[in-house]
Amino acid sequence: MKFLEVENLTTRYQTSKGQVHALDDVNFSLDAGESIGIAGESACGKSTLGLSLIRMIHGGKIVSGKINLEGNSILNLTESDFNHNYRWKKIAMVFQGAMNSLDPVYTIKQQFIEILKQHKYEEDSDKLILDAIHSVNLDESVLKKYPHELSGGMKQRIIIAMALLLKPKLVIADEPTTALDVLIQAQIENLLKKLKKDGMSIMLITHDLAILSEIAEKIGIMYGGKMIEFGSSEAIYKNPKHPYTQALLESIPTLHGGKPTFIKGNPPDLLSPKEGCKFIDRCPEAMEKCKKDPPRFKTDSGYVMCWLYE
Ligand code: SF4
Repeated sequence: MKFLEVENLTTRYQTSKGQVHALDDVNFSLDAGESIGIAGESACGKSTLGLSLIRMIHGGKIVSGKINLEGNSILNLTESDFNHNYRWKKIAMVFQGAMNSLDPVYTIKQQFIEILKQHKYEEDSDKLILDAIHSVNLDESVLKKYPHELSGGMKQRIIIAMALLLKPKLVIADEPTTALDVLIQAQIENLLKKLKKDGMSIMLITHDLAILSEIAEKIGIMYGGKMIEFGSSEAIYKNPKHPYTQALLESIPTLHGGKPTFIKGNPPDLLSPKEGCKFIDRCPEAMEKCKKDPPRFKTDSGYVMCWLYE
């Protein structure tokens, strides 16, 4: 049995201009203890994927597909069942920019207690809070402080500790290092590595492919709402198949490599997208056939959605 299986997951947002196809037929799976990195440009569906897994898509809806966690279908559960048994207890999320949402008028401890109250955990609350604080390498003195007394790095640790409070098995971290300076980014990356070592599965969402290799065994590359390549980190870094994955890797600056290149053109409009490969307008290898949607072609460790591998 897989730890996490996502099959044909499709999520749409309804807007005044029409439906946004934010997530389209996404597939991947993880074994127990494995982590996944989700990479791609802005507005490619990365965050919607995380929000779909935790069933918190404001203004949007999962229209088809399956999500199985440890063999149980979480899309078949009622909202109250999911909230009671899964959200924060088995799957938690560190939302993008959440460190700015700490309440300035309450101490950190009061904010932890409030979360526990909302989940009706009145007993053992001190132990749960201390476990969470220690798991992000902070000591208890931080609990007496107010958000304005904390650095950006500490606030981000607190937000991660809040996600860990009910000891979930899968933590989705959406751009957890964005808006932090480089040294603090490294600290948060080290923290994620430690959590992984402690046995947690992490879904790390980022536009920065460079930070994924040490945290994730698996990588999913998103483009235009689709996961266009999925496989082991090793395979994706050493032998990327999809022209977009190749371009994304070539855009990472390296110390001794040549000049990074950038991907010309713009991402596709997800409002009523046309048929065919979503990368067609930017792909140097595009051919007539690419006007039809490419299916998933099997690779050694996953799949690629590109007609070049038919
Ligand atoms: Fe390029 Fe065609 Fe492959 Fe799309 S399917 S990435 S357009 S070669």
